[in-house]
Amino acid sequence: MSNQKQKAEYFPYAFFQEKIVRVEDAKISIMTNALQYGTGIFAGIRGYYNENNGKPFLSVFRIEDHYTRFLNSLKIIGVSLGYNKEQLIDITLNLLKKNNPHKDTYVRPLAYAGSVNLSPNLTRDNKFDLAIYTIPLGDYLPTNKGLSAKVSSFRRISDNAIPARAKISGAYINSALARKEAADAGFDEAIFLTEDGHVAEGSAENIFIVRNGILITPPVSDEVLEGVTRRTVMEIAKEEDIPVLERSIDRSEIYIADEAFFCGTGVQVVWINNVDGRQLGNGKRGLITAKIQDKYFGIVRAGERQCTRLNLV
Ligand code: PMP
Repeated sequence: MSNQKQKAEYFPYAFFQEKIVRVEDAKISIMTNALQYGTGIFAGIRGYYNENNGKPFLSVFRIEDHYTRFLNSLKIIGVSLGYNKEQLIDITLNLLKKNNPHKDTYVRPLAYAGSVNLSPNLTRDNKFDLAIYTIPLGDYLPTNKGLSAKVSSFRRISDNAIPARAKISGAYINSALARKEAADAGFDEAIFLTEDGHVAEGSAENIFIVRNGILITPPVSDEVLEGVTRRTVMEIAKEEDIPVLERSIDRSEIYIADEAFFCGTGVQVVWINNVDGRQLGNGKRGLITAKIQDKYFGIVRAGERQCTRLNLV
């Protein structure tokens, strides 16, 4: 293990306690409830840097969908924040404008229990605050090679334990455990099974497999996050006349899949060429995966549809 300190790169301004401040001034107490118990929910949104006739702009991908899920996550945990979707979008775009990033950017909105109450509770006296910061982000996992994945011995959190369809901060210890297990065993990423043994998703991404020309992904009732990229992939498949099935997937099906890929805002679309040491297909990027991946990057980079275009200076 390297003991080199990684220097975090970030854009200078954040939204914190109802205003835009310098990131260095966005500080919370060590007693903060969310820090102790993971009482928060969050989102992850990408903005792609581009230029048109020399004029810089950022294409923010499906910001409205991300904030719909953000508000749904709050609803699931029974907490209100005091901002509606339009206000959240406005605040985010203003923050991006202020940071004026000339790079691909990741936006991290977080709603968290900012009190210093001692107990893990989601009651009215444990008020949630909004914080947003932005960082430059290239590829989260390599997009130009096939990944190896390990079926995790840690099961995906179930809907009646911590709902996976909400993006709950504390739930990510589940992802961290699976990622650690996979990384320690030399794999790039983990694949979660549900408690009843069906394929759910990766540690921070949804999964698709291809069998006999059909794109298959677990239904939203199989303990997955209802991914924005997952939805985009399904739309692309429809346009490309690729049949899509949402149905439960057995573990052994991924071993004999012709193709498989992960998708998510962070990872975008990355293909899998090996699961638990079994090579998928011919070990190369499959035809359907290639179509989806190329079209996905085309859409987000061009900033044509479902993108909010933000002119930069
Ligand atoms: N599943 C999990 C557990 C995730 O954390 C993410 C990343 N947000 C996804 C799936 C993909 O969701 P999206 O496409 O909305 O980013």
